[in-house]
Amino acid sequence: METVFEKAYLENDELNMDAISKAAAFLEEEKLVAFPTETVYGLGGNALSKDASKHIYAAKGRPSDNPLIVHVADIKSVYPLVKELNEKAKMLMEKFWPGPLTIILNKSDIVPYETTGGLDTVALRMPDNKAALKMIELSEVPVAAPSANTSGKPSPTKAEHVYEDLDGKISMILDGGEVGIGIESTIIDMTGDIPTILRPGYVTKNELSKLLGEVKYDEALLIRDKEKAKKIVPKAPGMKYRHYAPKADFILIEGDEEKVIEKINELVTEYENKGYKTGVICQDKTKDRYKCENVISLGNKENEVTISHNLYATLREFDKRETDYIFGETFMSDNLGTAIMNRMIKAAGYQIIDV
Ligand code: AMP
Ligand code: MG
Repeated sequence: METVFEKAYLENDELNMDAISKAAAFLEEEKLVAFPTETVYGLGGNALSKDASKHIYAAKGRPSDNPLIVHVADIKSVYPLVKELNEKAKMLMEKFWPGPLTIILNKSDIVPYETTGGLDTVALRMPDNKAALKMIELSEVPVAAPSANTSGKPSPTKAEHVYEDLDGKISMILDGGEVGIGIESTIIDMTGDIPTILRPGYVTKNELSKLLGEVKYDEALLIRDKEKAKKIVPKAPGMKYRHYAPKADFILIEGDEEKVIEKINELVTEYENKGYKTGVICQDKTKDRYKCENVISLGNKENEVTISHNLYATLREFDKRETDYIFGETFMSDNLGTAIMNRMIKAAGYQIIDV
C-alpha cells in the first residue's frame, strides 16, 4: 500500500486544509491515518467500523484484547457513544478537554466490541491538537486511535517514528512536527464508585482529586516487582503487555545520586569489557559524570515535560545506535514523574537495581 505523507500545518502555522481533508476522507472510507496529538502520534480509524478497528490491530501487530481510545472533536459527540454521561465525567471533560485525559465510561451499542477489545466500556478523549480536531470534525465519525507504533515499541513522538513503523501499512501519515508532552494520556475509569487512574499521565492524581474528591490508582500501577506484576491483572488491558521497549536490555538504577552514578559506571565498564555496546540515560546535571561514549540526557530533571518529551525518542535513538545494554537513572515525583517512571519501568521490563 502506498502511504501518503503530508504536513498538517503550513509554514505560517495555519492548518494545511488540503492534507487534513484528505485524511478525513480516508477515515470516512474506513482507511487508516496516523495523526499528531499533544501526547503521542495516534493511528486513527473509524471507531464505529469493525473493519477499521481490525485494520488498526493488524497494522500495529496489537493483541486484539487491547482496547482502543476513541477520539472526539467535542463533548456533544460523546453522548451517542455511552450509556450515560454522568455529572462527574462531564465535569472532567469540561475542565480537561481538549487535553491529555482519557475517560472510561459504559459504552452504547453503536460502539463495536472490535474497538473496545471486547469490553462493555469505552475510552474517550478529545486531543489538544488543532489538526487532529479538524480532521475528526471533517470525518464526521469518532476516531479510534491507539499510539501509531508497532505494538511493544516506544510510542511515536515525531512523524518519522510513525514512518519507521508503519510506512506501507496505512493510507496516510499527517505530519504535525514533534508532539509536546511525549507520553500517553492519563486514563481514568469513571464507571465505578471511586474514580480510578488506570494509567498515569500529564494530568495528575492531585489535579483530578481537586475536582472529584477521592481518586485512587489501579493497584497494578504501583507494582515495581516483575513477579507481582505477573499476578495482578491491570484494569487497562494494555498495561499488561511489554511496552515502550527499546531493543536493548534496559536496566534502571535507583537510589542516592552519587551511588547511582558509581553503580552505572561500574556496570558500563563490566559490560563493555564483555564486548557489549552500552548506553546511559541520565539528566543534564549528571551527564558529564559517566564514563560511557553513549550518554543521552533527557534534560533538566526539574522540567518534567522536557523529560517526558524526550523519553521515547531517546529509546528509539538507542535502537538506531544498536546498543545492547542501557542503564538509566530514575525520575520519580508526585507529578508527571509518576507517569514517566511508569513508562520507564515497563520499558525496562521491571529491571530495577536499588543502590
Ligand atoms: P494506546 O492508545 O496505545 O495508548 O492504548 C490505549 C490504552 O487505553 C490501552 O492501555 C488500553 O488498555 C486502555 N484502554 C482503552 N479502552 C479501555 C477500556 N475500555 N478500559 C480500560 N482501559 C482501556
Ligand atoms: Mg500504545
